[in-house]
Amino acid sequence: MAQHQARKRFGQNFLVDQAIIDSIVAAIAPARGDRIVEIGPGLSALTVPLLAALDHLTVIEIDRDLAARLRNRYSAERLTVVEADVLTVDFSMLAQDSGLRVVGNLPYNISSPLLFHLAQYADRVVDQHFMLQREVIDRMVAEPGSSDYSRLSVMLQSRYAMEKLFDVPPESFDPPPRVVSAVVRMVPLPQDRPRPLDQALFEQVVIKAFGQRRKMLRRSLSDWSGQIDWQGLDIPETARAEDVSVTQYMALADALFSQRTSSTPR
Ligand code: SAM
Repeated sequence: MAQHQARKRFGQNFLVDQAIIDSIVAAIAPARGDRIVEIGPGLSALTVPLLAALDHLTVIEIDRDLAARLRNRYSAERLTVVEADVLTVDFSMLAQDSGLRVVGNLPYNISSPLLFHLAQYADRVVDQHFMLQREVIDRMVAEPGSSDYSRLSVMLQSRYAMEKLFDVPPESFDPPPRVVSAVVRMVPLPQDRPRPLDQALFEQVVIKAFGQRRKMLRRSLSDWSGQIDWQGLDIPETARAEDVSVTQYMALADALFSQRTSSTPR
């Protein structure tokens, strides 16, 4: 088969380090009947060992040539190839009755939009194992008070338990990316997790807070700060976005929501 020329616009850095491939598959620990979706199979580095362990695998690949290669190589009974931009894929259609396991060495140029896209389907997901830029994973798992703590940390931590598993050096890929990568495990929090009363308002508060992360929260949320009982929420008046925990952001959004609903005339 002709050599594939890596396409930069699709974030193509192919894994070539067998020890890393083995470690990722071991972390996923696929079991025969699992319903796994691989995002960006590329030249099959993970696809081959996953298929060896599974009855069936679904992959989502945007690159027409790579999708055609996969269709030629495997029968449709073993491998379903969805040729699409993953950001447009409705994962609830893939999940059907059983929970999905989502995996992939992701295209780094779309990591944040993809993580937010997938969060919509977290109710139907068992777990996610992704290779990403290490810097992004550091932000995903960052705790309050750290300079990595960001909108991504708060939004994802409100929905998933996350664990950074191991780093992957640039030499493990062809062509090598300019950055160090890492692997993360994400497990959706259970149904009875703490949830904001109004998800959209919670997201709005977090976006606004981190939009001006160097400012004191009281100032960046100045439109609302008159309505906020900072003391009652145990948030110091001098706090900045990065000092506030996920639980406190939820409480903040809930307090605003309750005020809005109680002041709405009937
Ligand atoms: N899994 C392979 C590996 O580990 O060697 C390839 C990983 S490469 C970093 C990312 C893969 O995602 C490429 O195959 C690329 O074509 C595909 N891709 C990029 N953008 C995509 C998108 N929006 N939707 C689906 N696949 C995409």
